[in-house]
Amino acid sequence: MISMDSFLSLESLTAADLNGKAVLVREDLNVPVNEQGKITDDTRIREALPTLRHLLDAGARVYVTAHFGRPKGDTLEARSTDALRLKPVAEALEKQLGKVITYAPNAITPKDWLAQHPAPEPGSLVLLENSRFHPGEEKNDTELARAFAEGIDIYVNDAFGAAHRAHASTEGVAHHAPKTIAGLLMQRELRALARVVNDPQMPVVAIIGGSKVSTKIGVIENLLQKVDRLLIGGAMMFTFYKAQGLHVGDSLVEDDFIDVAARLLERSEGKLVLPTDVVIAEHFPKDGDAGVIETVPASAIPEERIGLDIGPETIHYYNNWISESRTLVWNGPMGVFETPPFDKGTRALADAIAKQSVTQAKPEGKTYSVLGGGDTLAALSQSGMDPDAFSHVSTGGGASLEYLEGKALPGIAALKQQAATAGGA
Ligand code: ADP
Ligand code: MG
Repeated sequence: MISMDSFLSLESLTAADLNGKAVLVREDLNVPVNEQGKITDDTRIREALPTLRHLLDAGARVYVTAHFGRPKGDTLEARSTDALRLKPVAEALEKQLGKVITYAPNAITPKDWLAQHPAPEPGSLVLLENSRFHPGEEKNDTELARAFAEGIDIYVNDAFGAAHRAHASTEGVAHHAPKTIAGLLMQRELRALARVVNDPQMPVVAIIGGSKVSTKIGVIENLLQKVDRLLIGGAMMFTFYKAQGLHVGDSLVEDDFIDVAARLLERSEGKLVLPTDVVIAEHFPKDGDAGVIETVPASAIPEERIGLDIGPETIHYYNNWISESRTLVWNGPMGVFETPPFDKGTRALADAIAKQSVTQAKPEGKTYSVLGGGDTLAALSQSGMDPDAFSHVSTGGGASLEYLEGKALPGIAALKQQAATAGGA
């Protein structure tokens, strides 16, 4: 049966379908770690738990594969650096699951594991080593994809955050496993994003910020066709200002993209909204200090001053748009949130959005809000905001951006293709 998402999901399988089955789960466990190798944010591990628990409770024999960091080199030996082993992840996962798991530092695929051990017992879990240690992972090598599928009854792709990469463990394996389905996190992410993009309740407001317009042109172009207003913030606003002939002082500008910014403004028919005032300082923050801080209108940024946040007037009228919205999508901080007080714009908008978001605790909320972006999430966690205060917070920065650009994500395309073949059979 093909589900309404046009791929099969874990929800559609009963415990009997899973009991005793060998299942390979691709998770996104690429958590940030500090210099001591300590995990600084375990969101991705926590988000993986529902799928893993579901499989373990049903008595599946579970292998988990995931990547970690960016190993370099041409050979397995060169790429297998101790700092990028999944050991800390294994420890955190075991703690979170409340269940002993097996960490397999010498096996990347089920094939590697089976060469040395019997299959995992029903209801137990083997965490395979960093998939990117294998030089074939990022090349989507066919032999490696086959090794991932070896001895497997079902492949579950739950790694939304890695779905924009056509790698052996995210895409290739789907073509070799007897059955390919989406995990619970994958499904949740796709439902939330589809709700924003495909059939949103109007008015729809998008907020796009961050450092560079160049990384978000595709998103802005695609969203402009779908939203009522697209509010700009972050450093990219200065490239738009320059496109309008305004002076931006020492603010961050991408000179090569001024033309693109001008074209986006022209084509947007007034939907693209720029900040009217800016918080400026003497220099980019160093050790928490940026010199004298002032707020000026967009048209009055002096020489030798740098814009670091949106101003109070902008917050006020962006908040008006937020309060009007029934659907809202946000990617990219409004300012240099890492250094207070330049986190003010980002925090103010986050507060306003949270107040009216539809959530599990507040189903009567007005606005369905979806947030994504690595630094956007970092900004929220830095200001102590609860991710549950929004309708959906995406675990996939790059993947959510590509989805919002309207691109097909290879990992998801493979799920759909497999479902279509299975459904036709
Ligand atoms: P995300 O990861 O959420 O997609 P980006 O990576 O695009 O966001 O951008 C985040 C970065 O943008 C942050 O490090 C932030 O400090 C920076 N930034 C925001 N506003 C400015 C500004 N006015 N000047 C310089 N950098 C800025
Ligand atoms: Mg970023």
